[in-house]
Amino acid sequence: MPGIPMRSGGSKARIAVIPGDGIGAEVTPQAVRVLKAVCASGNRALEFVEFDWGADKYLREGVTLPPGAVELLRDEYDAILFGALGDPRVPLNQHAADILLGLRFKLDLYVNARPVELLHDRLTPLRDRTEKDIRLIVFRENTEGLYVGVGGVFKQGTPDEIAVQEDVNSRKGVERIIRYAFEYARQNRLKRLCMSDKSNAMTFAHGLWQRVFKEVRQEYTDIDSRHLYIDTLAMEIIRDPRQFDVIVTCNLFGDIISDLGAQLAGGLGLAPSGNIHPGKTSLFEPVHGSAPNIAGKGIANPLGSVLTSAMLVEFLGWKPQAAAIRAAVRAALRENYVTPDLGGNRSTVEVADWLVQLVGKADFAEQLK
Ligand code: ATP
Repeated sequence: MPGIPMRSGGSKARIAVIPGDGIGAEVTPQAVRVLKAVCASGNRALEFVEFDWGADKYLREGVTLPPGAVELLRDEYDAILFGALGDPRVPLNQHAADILLGLRFKLDLYVNARPVELLHDRLTPLRDRTEKDIRLIVFRENTEGLYVGVGGVFKQGTPDEIAVQEDVNSRKGVERIIRYAFEYARQNRLKRLCMSDKSNAMTFAHGLWQRVFKEVRQEYTDIDSRHLYIDTLAMEIIRDPRQFDVIVTCNLFGDIISDLGAQLAGGLGLAPSGNIHPGKTSLFEPVHGSAPNIAGKGIANPLGSVLTSAMLVEFLGWKPQAAAIRAAVRAALRENYVTPDLGGNRSTVEVADWLVQLVGKADFAEQLK
């Protein structure tokens, strides 16, 4: 996948690691091992500091995001490698909302970049589609929409109960994500951009998306841009994913369409994402959650987190390292050295061991020169 625009880094960087709950705590340390291996052979210095924010801490101490956490991350770290949050012991996963949404909102990480890239033909459920057919990126607005938590309930618990959740869209918020998507397309020589909304039903909120899109696209006549309603996009992406290079949409639709995309490219275990504010501390996490059903069994697929770390180093400006990580993941898929979700019989740690020894080989290190 072409580059994620970045926080321009030197040859050193400080990374905050938040493994979180469930399989997040299993896959994240493995991604760190691969990152360390790839950076060691490429002359890059990464310093990792781990934070234990998650369900255990919340249940023990009642703390979600500790005081000063946002300022600490913002001022002292280049990027955050995040695992997953979610635990059946925490009602409504309140800690997850506080920590993850808290960081997305307070660090103003307005771009949620979710690449959908088929890395091996056998991994797509679509018949007759190959690697070259499924290669796109979804940009999800990440700080507004239905996720801001504006709303309430009235007459709760009675037959007349009413629940309201507001979809909040600002001119600034809509414009910056649409502009980012166009810029990304231009910088990476991607020809096609699709903006998706539901402006036929959500006439006020998504009417704003329409107006902004029509304005901004006039500055990018080199890009073939179009609009699809989200329901049509869901159909078209299945019917013929070759139509899409860059998709930009709101918070809720981006969440849904990128999970759909993840399935087209091998499932949640493989999907990476970045929560980005260009030039500022940004957060990288696999698309999957804490997966309590498989947590503790040692079978979680670490490749989503490993590919996430490739996005992270790309954000630091370290393209050869990102390319090396992706090449190693492709090799594991080719050799079928994978976890059960992808049809293999390897454990989380075995897959990471294999990647670490591969990126440590001399001919692999050559790619980093
Ligand atoms: P959360 O509420 O934290 O998002 P969840 O279980 O609802 O958690 P996910 O964790 O995103 O949702 O995953 C849904 C299912 O996909 C999991 O139950 C698991 O079976 C599978 N899955 C997700 N990630 C992985 C992975 N890395 N390796 C293997 N299977 C995975």
